[in-house]
Order: sequence, then structure tokens, then C-alpha cells
Amino acid sequence: MPEYKVATIPADGIGIEVIAATKEVLAALEFQVSGLGFSFTDFDWGSEHYRKNGRMMPADGLERLKAFDAILFGAVGAADIPDHITLWGLRIAICQGLDQYANVRPTRIFPGITPPLRNCKRENLNIVIVRENTEGEYSGQGGRSHRGFPEEVATEVSVFTRSGVERIMRFAFQLAQSRPRKLLTVVTKSNAQKHGMVFWDEIAEEVSRDFADVTWDKELVDAMTVRMTLKPETLDTIVATNLHADILSDLAGALSGSLGMAPTANLDPERRFPSMFEPIHGSAFDITGKGIANPIASFWCAVQMLEHLGETEAAQKLMTAIERTTEAGYLTPDVGGTATTREVTDAVIESLDYKRTVVNLKS
Ligand code: ATP
Repeated sequence: MPEYKVATIPADGIGIEVIAATKEVLAALEFQVSGLGFSFTDFDWGSEHYRKNGRMMPADGLERLKAFDAILFGAVGAADIPDHITLWGLRIAICQGLDQYANVRPTRIFPGITPPLRNCKRENLNIVIVRENTEGEYSGQGGRSHRGFPEEVATEVSVFTRSGVERIMRFAFQLAQSRPRKLLTVVTKSNAQKHGMVFWDEIAEEVSRDFADVTWDKELVDAMTVRMTLKPETLDTIVATNLHADILSDLAGALSGSLGMAPTANLDPERRFPSMFEPIHGSAFDITGKGIANPIASFWCAVQMLEHLGETEAAQKLMTAIERTTEAGYLTPDVGGTATTREVTDAVIESLDYKRTVVNLKS
């Protein structure tokens, strides 16, 4: 088994705290799975790098990342720098630069967590959102002119290419096919957006012909918020544009209990470049430095990374340890507990060793 070279970019806010915790957990996992090894290389890119150098990462940043098997990313955003600079300068620059076109965002309710919606049973929410990650509304096309005049104009152009839509649709159908329910919902706004979104619907229809065993339907994004909230059991795999899936996955995270539980994989399914794994949440200034950031989203990212690397046994082991930890009540305040990041991390590490579970720890 190889030693995996993992680039870590903790970046800003609680990203620094949860990535440190995730490295500890992965280091502990090395002792549990024979032959598994990681070498971590930390990159100090992010808002502090911007303050010192005027850019979020060095000019050769993408080239340097290409040498790694995977990237673990924390969070980006700072109070004194506009969000579009921090986001485009680092996260989007990496996703687009390494053509990580499939953004995969699973959601479920972990044992021991009380979901915010009274009627949402644990078994009813088990979905995965596939977000198109390189074009659409975040393609960066548009501009501003006549600044400061009454006729000032700004355009933000959504770009949908046949190759871009087709590849994400194919990825989503394949993912749906690999899951037990073989169920896919294609989200658009094709009643109002009659060009790009109708194009999505047409391509979904075309691609579906290659996946006869996948049951699929269409939903408008506004109706989707209602369906996710009131009838999550009717959903399994979901595919949507860059913007729509961005919004829907925050809702999904909230339904599962907290944004602190929600992970993301930014995948290059063709494996030309390293893929990047990051929690959905941002830098969360309100809790930065308090030691109470929920590290579970980031741990789940590590599970996604292990799955992508083909380390199925290690992925399963880590997921089981996370579930044992939440079930035993080691929860940070965002999910109703009183545990610190440190305590949750220690509990997951202890749970990795089946002989000494967190249940023993508590007694
Ligand atoms: P963004 O960079 O997207 O603007 P943000 O810094 O505003 O992000 P979000 O990630 O959107 O923060 O999270 C909103 C709030 O949810 C946070 O301010 C925090 O209170 C809570 N939260 C998010 N992630 C976590 C976490 N891992 N642990 C605990 N609370 C969290």
C-alpha cells in the first residue's frame, strides 16, 4: 500500500482548527489499517497570505498541488477581505484550475443527533447532492461598466457547455446507479430560464438513455427546497447547477443538524489531477479560536478522500468511529452538545480502536 501525499490548506478561521483535528485522526488511522500511510504537506495559503503578498496563493500554486494524491482544504473567508477575492483567489481557483468538475455533497443524520425538523426521521434523510463545479453561474463571465453613473451596469453570465453539462450528468447517473435506490432527481429552473436550463433538461434526457436501471425525475429548484424539507424520503441522488446545488446543500446540511456535519468532495473523476476535500462550512468567525468547531464535517471529508483513493477498509473504519462518537453523545454545541473540538477528536481516535470504544471511555 502506498504512502499517500496529502496537501493540506487549512486557510482561514475554523478551517485551521478542523484540519489540524483531521490530520490527527488520519495519523491515528495509520495504526489501525496495516500499510496505510500519509505524508502531509501544509500550505499557509489563505487570507493571511493575501495580506502579506497580495494574493491568496502563489502564482505556481496549482502546479505545486499537482504533485499530490489529494488535497484537504479547511475554509476560506476573512472579515477584512471581500469574499469574492478570498473565494476566487483560492477555492474556486483550485477547483477550476484542477478541473474538479464534480462536487459531491452527501447528507444524513448521524446517530445521537436530533435533527432540527421534528418530523424528519433519521432513516428518511440520506441524500447526495452532485454540484456542477466549474461553470454555470460561477463561470466568472460578465463585467461592470459606467461605474458610479446612474447607467452603471453589471452582468453575471451563466455559461453552460454541452461537454460540461454532459459530464456532470453522466457522473450523477453513474453515482445514482451505484447507490441501492438507483434514484436521481435533476434540478433546474427550466420554467423561467428557457435557454441554459432547458438545455440541462434535454441533456438529462439524452444521458438517461444509457442508464435504463436508474429511475429519474425533474424538479424545479424552488420546489426542491420544499421537497427536501417535507419529503426527503423521496430523494436519493440529486444533480444541480453550481449555484442551485450550492444553496440546496446548505439546506441539506441544516436538515442534518448543522453545517458542521456536511462534507464536500471536489472530484476530478478522470484522475488527471488531485481531488480536493473540504467541509461545506466557511470560516465561521463567531466561533473561531473558541475550540468548539465541529470537526465531523472535516472527518467525513477524510472518509470521502479515503474512498476516492480506493482505501475502502480505512474509509469504513473511520466512518464507524465517527458514528460511535456521535452516538455516545460527544457533540459540539452546534448539534446540541457541550463537547469541544478536542474532545470529539479524542473520542473519534479512541473509537478507531475497537477494543477501547468511546462507550468504555465514558464509563
Ligand atoms: P461563508 O464563508 O460561507 O460565508 P461563514 O463564515 O459565514 O461562511 P458558515 O460556514 O456559513 O459561516 O456557517 C454559518 C454559521 O454556522 C457559523 O457562523 C457557525 O456559527 C456555524 N457553523 C458552521 N460550521 C460550523 C462548525 N464546523 N462547527 C460549529 N458551528 C459551525
